[in-house]
Amino acid sequence: MDIRTRAVHVVNEPFGEGSWPLSVPIVQSSAFGFGSAGALADAMGGPDGQYVYTRRGNPTVRALERTVAGLESGAAAIAFASGMGALSGMLLSLLKPGDHVLAQRCLYGGTYSVLSDLARRFGVEAEYLPGGDAADVEALMRPKTRLLLLETIANPTGQVPDLPVLTAAARRCGVLSLVDNSLASPVLCRPIEHGADIVVHSTTKYLAGHSDVLGGVAVFADGGLHRRVWGRTVELGATADPFAAWLTLRGLATLPLRMRQHCSNAEVIAERLARHPAVRAVHWPWLPGNPSYATARTVLSGGGGMVTCELTGGRAAGRGFIERVRLARLALSLGGVETLISHPASTSHRELDSQALAAAGVGEGTVRISVGIEHAEDLWADIEQALDAS
Ligand code: PLP
Repeated sequence: MDIRTRAVHVVNEPFGEGSWPLSVPIVQSSAFGFGSAGALADAMGGPDGQYVYTRRGNPTVRALERTVAGLESGAAAIAFASGMGALSGMLLSLLKPGDHVLAQRCLYGGTYSVLSDLARRFGVEAEYLPGGDAADVEALMRPKTRLLLLETIANPTGQVPDLPVLTAAARRCGVLSLVDNSLASPVLCRPIEHGADIVVHSTTKYLAGHSDVLGGVAVFADGGLHRRVWGRTVELGATADPFAAWLTLRGLATLPLRMRQHCSNAEVIAERLARHPAVRAVHWPWLPGNPSYATARTVLSGGGGMVTCELTGGRAAGRGFIERVRLARLALSLGGVETLISHPASTSHRELDSQALAAAGVGEGTVRISVGIEHAEDLWADIEQALDAS
């Protein structure tokens, strides 16, 4: 069925006989009672058994996991307390000291920080791809390479890697591909259909979509890998809370509608920014002339809601602009219904030194706009007045 249908019809469990609630019940319980010691012992086996303890599984959380796994064309999923919980849960479950990770050059700052920390404290080396060819991946592979880490739409530069080509190169070398799909969402791209082994999301962003809940999820192409990783993530304990899972499910139902509006608004904003004299460059993957344009047209079914631009006046211009907008809110997150603006060099990417910032394509004048679902003309009027005053 189409994703618009699947987003509304949550994969829920049967609820008694006769009638049942249309909304997934919030099972706000940390533990589950049993009638016999044997039944409790039997339930301890794995991710599909009876519910025992919410860190190991919960009906509301499982409804979210099954629904997102379905939307992402995966076999199974694990929900987490945040996107970083999902990412670090995967890295800590899959890697050991001495391992090597290949990653795309431009990544969300938090991912970059966790990779740097793993290198310093646990001897897991991260190396960044110079370009986007299969040859780059194959040339950098080592016997200890365990993971290829990519973002479908890189935060904040909007770079789109050629997923089928890069995941195939990793597979030829026996290496797992992990793709952060937070900025595309399964509406615009399902990386498992392009060869990814694991997809992670900050569900805080488009999946939940209303700036009211933190969450993360990891979706697995293969049920066997899900089972192996599940046991470790249960021990790490960054589990999703049932109420957070419920809020995320509530947001998911409108994800396809919201994504359509985010994309069409972003197109208007990107095109007009590109013509404004105060703007040196605009990064939106579906904008003709963008370096990722050709790849984005094959891998994504829309350009996404994040538009990044470089202002001619550098850091001062960037900071001044984000303080002058009135409708758009100055805030760190993205993917919510309201338009949010931020300055990555001083916020999400502040852990990167100037060399790493330059390599990732983030400048002092870079401004990130998470275009919301308001009316495009109202948004442009706000952005234009803030630019004209610069
Ligand atoms: N991945 C991407 C691409 C992000 O943009 C973010 C947050 O901005 C994260 C992961 C981390 O998500 P969370 O803030 O839910 O931990």
